[in-house]
Amino acid sequence: MIFSLPKILSTSGKLAELIFFPSFCQLCSVLLELPQERVICHGCWEHVRAQRRSYCLCCGRFFQSMGEPHFCSDCLETRPPFSLHRSASKYEGKVKDIILLFKYHHYKVLGKELARFAYQVLKEEEELWRKVDALIPVPLHPRKRRKRGFNQALVIAEELEKIKGIQVAQGTLLKIKNVPAQTSLDAEDREKNVIGVFRVAQDDQIKGKRLLLIDDVYTTGATVRECSRVLKKAGAKEVKAITLAQA
Ligand SMILES: [Zn+2]
Ligand SMILES: [Zn+2]
Repeated sequence: MIFSLPKILSTSGKLAELIFFPSFCQLCSVLLELPQERVICHGCWEHVRAQRRSYCLCCGRFFQSMGEPHFCSDCLETRPPFSLHRSASKYEGKVKDIILLFKYHHYKVLGKELARFAYQVLKEEEELWRKVDALIPVPLHPRKRRKRGFNQALVIAEELEKIKGIQVAQGTLLKIKNVPAQTSLDAEDREKNVIGVFRVAQDDQIKGKRLLLIDDVYTTGATVRECSRVLKKAGAKEVKAITLAQA
């Protein structure tokens, strides 16, 4: 029997998919049948939508109410070290489930799809994308990265790099202390936990640049604030930030 090369390649591609990707939706257990379905079914992705709420024009914190975006009382009192932050969604429901699968079950493919979702939600925010020289993923400590297998913020940043053509400055910002995960701490301890944890490795990549920090989840904002402070101290002209979701 003679096999054509494309057929062999497509068969081996299918086999690879069966090995790497489950055939049932990891959230609702339906059979994944559509060719573009990976890990999560189309129906579950349908629940992932943009948040139609008002938010702070500076820190991006969602307000409970609808209405025009405005500055929150915290930002009116003290501006954070970043000029702008936006989350694509609240950290709840299916978005939260998918982020958890992405981070803790090694499904990098979900990170790429989440990045595309975030871009769809935030692409109209002209200020966010204007004059950005580089994307900076919030780093993980090397030990943590080895344990997880990848840095989730880097996966998101690389997908945004593909979409927007803005380069990822990898290895520019480092996490030099392996501190407890922010998720295990209360608000006050989160602030303390990130102090002195980040360091800029290459000042020349930062000086005079406008940077867009990328992370997965924004809770108290302590991580994004501390990274921005360190980048500004190293000479960044401006720091803005994007997160997939905020708690
Ligand atoms: Zn599903
Ligand atoms: Zn604010």
